[in-house]
Amino acid sequence: MTVVERAGSVSKYINRGVVQMQVPAPFEYERATSVDHAIDLLERLGSEARLIAGGHSLLPMMRLRLANPEYIIDINDLADELGYIRTQGDTMYIGAMTRHRELLESNELAAAFPIFRDAEKVIADPVVRNRGTIGGSLCQADPSEDLSAVCSTLDAECVIRGSQGERVVSMHDFHVGPYETAVGDAEFLTEIRIPIRPNGSSAYHKVERRAGDWAVVSAGAAVWIDDGVISEGRVGLAAVGANTASIPDAAAALAGAAPSEELYAQVGAIAAAACSPQTDGRGTADYKRHLANELTQRALRDAVARATA
Ligand SMILES: Cc1cc2nc3c(=O)[nH]c(=O)nc-3n(C[C@H](O)[C@H](O)[C@H](O)COP(=O)(O)OP(=O)(O)OC[C@H]3O[C@@H](n4cnc5c(N)ncnc54)[C@H](O)[C@@H]3O)c2cc1C
Repeated sequence: MTVVERAGSVSKYINRGVVQMQVPAPFEYERATSVDHAIDLLERLGSEARLIAGGHSLLPMMRLRLANPEYIIDINDLADELGYIRTQGDTMYIGAMTRHRELLESNELAAAFPIFRDAEKVIADPVVRNRGTIGGSLCQADPSEDLSAVCSTLDAECVIRGSQGERVVSMHDFHVGPYETAVGDAEFLTEIRIPIRPNGSSAYHKVERRAGDWAVVSAGAAVWIDDGVISEGRVGLAAVGANTASIPDAAAALAGAAPSEELYAQVGAIAAAACSPQTDGRGTADYKRHLANELTQRALRDAVARATA
């Protein structure tokens, strides 16, 4: 089965909520007491070991036997160490174990990047949000993952730690394909960093079939405005392609342009043309392209309104 076929089958069962109650294959369980301990365990146990954070993506896959790790390394005891949202200088630092609920409730985060609160309001339900983490969301690399689209829109950087030290990877390079990331077998995503610049804002729009469902399509937008002109703008989409990478042609059209309805329509059309949706139970490819266009326009309109308020 190719990666894309596997992605399709995972999406079919998990994204649509068609999770059959099954029992995972047997596995050994370890609790990590520090990041270094987790890395040490990953190195020692090899490629059959998997970290578990909130478990809201990994456990359904294990129940369906789409993931069959021999060893589970529980990193929930690291929630104090890696559960934080803090601003230092011109950067926002978010620990990988920060839960959806903490992202939703953080006024500091909403003030700098309102796109997070927009997205978190429509991610799953309180049960999932209480446990699911930003690290798990990005590492799951589901093409429908809302936080991946948010982080792509904001041009975030991911800090990956292994026994040789740390490396920093852009969101562009972090997702190498559906359900595949730049995190190696014995590595750990520890932190997400987002540059904070003045005169900017952001927004997120999602269409879902019912409250708390995965996206049919969602779009994020971020803009920075100087003297009435967009100095930089970015758009990210979820659920309409192999991953949630941002759209370079949209950024090119926004750079140096004055905000207007014509510009939003132009960039909406670019977003629709750049994506590659599939017809499935959530809608036809044409309908999803239409949503990519419309939601991009709405996100841009809101981001500009917030940046200029
Ligand atoms: C019913 C339901 C509805 C949902 N709806 C939505 C939705 O609308 N939008 C949305 O975006 N998401 C949705 N989700 C997914 C949810 O956001 C999960 O929280 C998220 O996908 C994974 O986070 P987690 O902490 O639970 O990760 P886990 O399931 O614990 O892990 C996921 C993967 O990431 C790896 N991993 C975890 N942490 C790290 C780390 N620090 N470093 C390296 N690898 C790591 C694990 O080994 C595993 O492979 C939904 C989930 C459910 C169950």
